[in-house]
Amino acid sequence: MISQQFLDELLSKNDIVSVVSSYILLKRVGGDFVALCPFHNEKTASFHVYPQSDSFYCFGCETGGSIITFVQKIENLSYIDAVRFLAQKSKMSFFEDDKENSKFFKKNEIFRVNREAAKFFYSSLYTKEGSNALLYLKSRGVNEKAIRHFGIGYSDSSKFSLCNHLFKSGFEEEILKESGLVFNNKTASLSDRFLNRIMFPIIDLNGNVIGFGGRSINDSYPKYLNTKETLVFKKGTNLFSLNFAKKTKENFLILTEGYMDVISLFQLGFENIIATLGTALTFFQSRLLSKYTNNVVIAYDNDEAGQRATDRAISFLRNEGIFVKVLKLEKEKDPDEFVQTYKEQAVYRFSKLIKEAKSDIEYRLQKIKNSISDNSDNEIIYLQKAIKVLCSIKNKMEREIWAKRLSSEFGIDKKTIIHQIELKEVKQKKKSFKEEIKNIKVSLSGRNDIVNKEKAKFLKAASAEELLISYIIHHFEDVDIIFKKISSRDFCTNFNARVMKCIEDFVKQRKMSQNITIHDFQNNFSVSEIGRIAKFFASDISKKDSIVNAFNYIDVVFSEKMRERIFKSDFSEVDTIKDYINVLKRCKK
Ligand SMILES: [Zn+2]
Repeated sequence: MISQQFLDELLSKNDIVSVVSSYILLKRVGGDFVALCPFHNEKTASFHVYPQSDSFYCFGCETGGSIITFVQKIENLSYIDAVRFLAQKSKMSFFEDDKENSKFFKKNEIFRVNREAAKFFYSSLYTKEGSNALLYLKSRGVNEKAIRHFGIGYSDSSKFSLCNHLFKSGFEEEILKESGLVFNNKTASLSDRFLNRIMFPIIDLNGNVIGFGGRSINDSYPKYLNTKETLVFKKGTNLFSLNFAKKTKENFLILTEGYMDVISLFQLGFENIIATLGTALTFFQSRLLSKYTNNVVIAYDNDEAGQRATDRAISFLRNEGIFVKVLKLEKEKDPDEFVQTYKEQAVYRFSKLIKEAKSDIEYRLQKIKNSISDNSDNEIIYLQKAIKVLCSIKNKMEREIWAKRLSSEFGIDKKTIIHQIELKEVKQKKKSFKEEIKNIKVSLSGRNDIVNKEKAKFLKAASAEELLISYIIHHFEDVDIIFKKISSRDFCTNFNARVMKCIEDFVKQRKMSQNITIHDFQNNFSVSEIGRIAKFFASDISKKDSIVNAFNYIDVVFSEKMRERIFKSDFSEVDTIKDYINVLKRCKK
């Protein structure tokens, strides 16, 4: 078990705002912070961090808790492992018991395996077996400096080279399998996953090798093979070369599709290039990007799939408030081919393409125009579609500029265009408002409540219990008065009773007039339960409530409890009925 003293020190060394903001961009609002939630995709920020109560809560997906819960969720760790993670971050020594079951230790071991594998792949490039791979890289114009910079390597075609090397280096079989670098083949012997491939290490923002991309050198299928999902590698959450690109002095990043695009452009002197790892840009990746830049130039492949990926990336990046431009290659398939084609002229020509890159709005409008033939009837269709595009601009000034352009292009009053955009916006808002109301109704009914499963059955009581708990948390000076009137045993729903019991135990043991914090619940509740408790801490209503409100909540709980007893009773319990009538009378007053 972790001692209280250790936890206290840990918490004093790690404040929730700095830990959370090492993952996402936080905006200060009053004394609190808000952000777009890292746990679900959303357009308006509903993720809150409350430094005062050392907690966070997302009103969108109802995730919440303490700094430890946050690390548990975002790093996918158990409670103990999250504590270990924070301890390592703040250079505290941490306990080493139960190593085998610890994801934290496993993750660290996988990093070590990957690092060793990367070194092995790199050195293999310069062996006899690697000579073809080296030739291949040279033929694609990759120079020594780039090979060193990106740690590019080679996995040879023997099935056991890496396996044997890693065993010799002292790693256990289990961790090798967990790293995704080896697997049990049909004859059940351990064998290398990557064969005869150029290996690109994928490095996270802390400098850990989290996985590899392997490109076949003889065009065997698949052309690109990535590390499968492991404890440290999750598809769609990282970007290739962001660890380098984040240091750039440029105020924009260039987003490409492939490893070779990044490497070719790096050799021209561009350091602000990143690549999605063989998948379409995800909201996790765009959220990560928004931490490092406000401007992204998309330079995806020059084909239909690339265009589709561009459209998707635009919407995700816009969502994060990033200004997007789209770079247009002429005939070349991708930036890598562009570099190979223009050789010495490539730097100048590519810089020119960057300068000429169109804003996402211009790009989208042009695409609509291209899809509609020139004919005056089609002007209306174009304008309707264009209005829809302009509707996605949140910035008023930017919107005005585009409305003005459309107005002069088609000889229509700018006000009419703005009016049309606003109408469309109202329609969209109504739709999302309806959706929101629907969700609130479901949540209020308690039907889908996975934390408090009895909520739907005791709806009135459960709501009163929640309000009462929130009140206590926000007005801890009144806790003794409240405990004189009600205890956890009087609660109707088990989950809320457990929360109340935890508060009672805290009060019994507390020193002086100490207030309860989110950490005091941590030991007795699961991650999703802590999320609900974080909601109690986040409640704005409770801050404004007075003790009179608290007494009302108590009355409701009692009256509901009585009602339940009456319904269950066979009317032999005369006292119960009398009690009930008394309570009802008291409530009516
Ligand atoms: Zn959320």
